[in-house]
Amino acid sequence: MTSVHELIRDAAEREAAMKRGKPIALRATGVSSCDAGLVKEPWAIDRVPGYGPGASLDDEIPGTAPRQGPLPARYIEASDEELRQWIVDAKAKLGERVAILGHFYQRDEIIEHADFVGDSFMLAQAAKGHPEAEAFVFCGVHFMAETADILSGPEQAVILPNLAAGCSMADMATIEQVEDCWRELTAALGPAAEGELQPVIPVTYMNSSAAIKAFCGRNGGIVCTSSNARTVLEWAFARGQRVVFFPDQHLGRNTAKAMGYSEDVMPLWRPHLPLGGNTVQQLRDARVILWNGFCSVHKRFTVAQIDKARADYPGVRVIVHPECPAAVVEAADGAGSTDYIRKEIEAASPGDIIAVGTEINLVNRLQDQHPELTIFCLDPVVCPCSTMYRIHPAYLAWTLESLVAGEQPNRIRVDAAVAGDSRLALERMLAAKP
Ligand code: SF4
Repeated sequence: MTSVHELIRDAAEREAAMKRGKPIALRATGVSSCDAGLVKEPWAIDRVPGYGPGASLDDEIPGTAPRQGPLPARYIEASDEELRQWIVDAKAKLGERVAILGHFYQRDEIIEHADFVGDSFMLAQAAKGHPEAEAFVFCGVHFMAETADILSGPEQAVILPNLAAGCSMADMATIEQVEDCWRELTAALGPAAEGELQPVIPVTYMNSSAAIKAFCGRNGGIVCTSSNARTVLEWAFARGQRVVFFPDQHLGRNTAKAMGYSEDVMPLWRPHLPLGGNTVQQLRDARVILWNGFCSVHKRFTVAQIDKARADYPGVRVIVHPECPAAVVEAADGAGSTDYIRKEIEAASPGDIIAVGTEINLVNRLQDQHPELTIFCLDPVVCPCSTMYRIHPAYLAWTLESLVAGEQPNRIRVDAAVAGDSRLALERMLAAKP
């Protein structure tokens, strides 16, 4: 069988696909992408295990990750224009019964059909705010569809057009690993003495499975987004002596550093090692215990890229997402969530030059929306999120036509007990105030 590496590095296919003109692979630089396989259609990748081409290609995929079944030939063989028309027609037939939710990092061919565009939490809130819809087609990744299912009504279906659209960061913390960590950590720290705060509060980033959100809900913990991570850590420190932060070490570290904590009190928990690779004393001295997870898209950004942008474009403003490594966040002029990045760009003056450290589809779209500015991605090599890339118009057309036919393919259902505990952690986040 052909390995994924052979499959995606096939030069002849790359050349043929490039001639067909795939926008993600070629748009920003016109010459290169992080991976030749990006010019392939996702159904070619769905046949082999792994995340497929893009920034998460080499990340380890858990055996339990959902796999997508074969897509009917009609959709694979359709032209781009046919797919577009089928989507438009099916959407018109479905009317307000179905809403399409499009994540900021999706390709433009999906975003043009979206009823709501936003980050994961904004889209889950959109689902919650539309009780009239029978179904939501979530053009994002698996954990986002789970959150939408948790927040939407029990009769409302949340559908992920391609089940292989997971998130490599979310997959870096499984519920079994988190429960093992909690057992070891609470044993090492011991119980709180009378009058003391809790020894440790679990905090999970939105980019985690429903099972981990539920774990936090059950254990006095909370969820955060990249917009409210500081408020959430303040909430946690009002209740606990320390925090264990899942799964993105960079968001945890950057937020705690901005609050004045030094890296000496932020040990890394490596899930395959006893005590996460730490001593009991290191854990006792810790304020934020960071899970060893990361986003493969944002970890590509480097200080060298920032130095080059400043050398090439004197006066450039550099803004990055807090999933980037700490050195990158420190070298940038500003760091914040997707919402922060959008607001910074909206507040810029004509002629300003802005280098952005986040996902390429979003950066390209911001440049399209703001022709009066020069906006470019810090990473000169185009490399989108592998798993977002799996949502192709062919899957959206198939999903919508299935809904028209009365079927609900790829429905994401979160177990009722898990949903209840997750909701607790999400509600704590909504109630947390700066
Ligand atoms: S951009 Fe990073 S965090 Fe977001 S879905 Fe992709 S891998 Fe996950």
